[in-house]
Amino acid sequence: MPDIRRTKILATLGPATDKEGVLEKLFHAGIDAVRLNFSHGSAQDHIDRANVVRELSKKTGRRVGILADLQGPKIRIARFSVDKVWLDEGQDFALDMSLDENSGDTTEVGITYEPLAREVVEGSRLLLDDGRIVLDVVNVVDGRINCTVVVGGHLSNNKGINLLGGGLSAAALTPKDKEDILTIGKIKADFVAISFPRCAEDLNEARRLLADVDCYASIVAKVERAEAMIPETMDEIILASDVIMVARGDLGVEIGDANLPSAQKTLIKRSRELDRAVITATQMMESMIENPIPTRAEVFDVANAVLDGTDAIMLSAETAAGRYPVQAVEAMVRVCIETDKQRAARKSKHRVDARFDRKDEAIAMAAMYMANHSDVQGLVALTESGATPLWMSRIRSGLPIFAFSSHEATLGQVTLYRGVFPVYFDMQNQTHEELNKNIIEVLKRIGFAEKGDTFIITKGDLTGEKGGTNALKVVTVGEGLIPE
Ligand code: PEP
Repeated sequence: MPDIRRTKILATLGPATDKEGVLEKLFHAGIDAVRLNFSHGSAQDHIDRANVVRELSKKTGRRVGILADLQGPKIRIARFSVDKVWLDEGQDFALDMSLDENSGDTTEVGITYEPLAREVVEGSRLLLDDGRIVLDVVNVVDGRINCTVVVGGHLSNNKGINLLGGGLSAAALTPKDKEDILTIGKIKADFVAISFPRCAEDLNEARRLLADVDCYASIVAKVERAEAMIPETMDEIILASDVIMVARGDLGVEIGDANLPSAQKTLIKRSRELDRAVITATQMMESMIENPIPTRAEVFDVANAVLDGTDAIMLSAETAAGRYPVQAVEAMVRVCIETDKQRAARKSKHRVDARFDRKDEAIAMAAMYMANHSDVQGLVALTESGATPLWMSRIRSGLPIFAFSSHEATLGQVTLYRGVFPVYFDMQNQTHEELNKNIIEVLKRIGFAEKGDTFIITKGDLTGEKGGTNALKVVTVGEGLIPE
């Protein structure tokens, strides 16, 4: 059995991966899904990149998922008349919606979000450029926000603004996002990430708008507002989504960096408890934008996210715009493979005391219990919707879970589930004996089965029916009806 990596890698595409041959190298290095970042680039850029991903998936035989990440209501400053300005600690600086959008200088700059002046008060703390610049609000006069610079430095065009502690009311879906959803419908993305959701309704609205363009992608909630960390709100957001992203960039700015580690652990734990997959994102290999090897701290960050139980880890600028995109993926791969072997990544106490209302969920749990406690080399879930492999992958394990499906959408959605590997398989018109034999033949062909290996197969009496899993079969290569 080859070394398997159960933790998935999501790589953001951009100018660095547009270069001839780079994306193919990322496929070979081991990416499981890509992110199209709708904060940058044109609709055509995203369509072209998605087409290349689909072509490479066919060429390499590896189904790589596509995640479209909507920009959302990121509040930004406008632009300066020069490239960048320098702000001194203690000086005055104003944000003013009424200014010409290209005329910022060392004393003032425009902003893109009109309600900001009504939503801050004297003493509010504004964090610009992911917290590199800090401003305290002195007063608001006729829509002009007068501030004192608390932490100074260089400030350049279009940098983001966050309010410490959160509380800005901007709706999660902007007119640009609604426009981008039309493009995402054409791309038929497997995942759509919603930025800054405040509540379930933000996610439900996105789901409805996507259904209008015939797109039934998994909805990813990016947790990046301080309010989303309130337990009731967190549960509401997790339950309304299919996947959670720990969006550490903006979240860290809103809640303060010292609160991020516990926020990450809480979000991963709660998402898994509620049967949702979870992505850990931002600055995981940040120094590799410029350097070919990661820092020791970055190696530990990746390993800790794996031990926390994340399904996937994400690369942002490292692959989109960095100098070493392939090396960044390779570094993540080697850290994940070694960390996946740790006992803490494999042993599960999850749901040992639970009762299950659904037969298919009980079968998934029974399969994992047996797999983790006996001599089994892997599991195969014949799946229509992807639910069985999702339940299975909530249980920690060192074993691969193969999701066999004939549905392209299902194969795409499982790409980010920890330990789950998508395999195209047409299960129609086969007896149970034929299914067992043919499944093992496929596993042999892809190098995961040899004589004496035992696999657990879950399936339903009526293949092709959602929620129909009602059987668990244990087969050994070279025994009974299974030829070696
Ligand atoms: C983040 O803030 O961590 C994040 C993933 O969002 P974006 O990259 O869109 O800023």
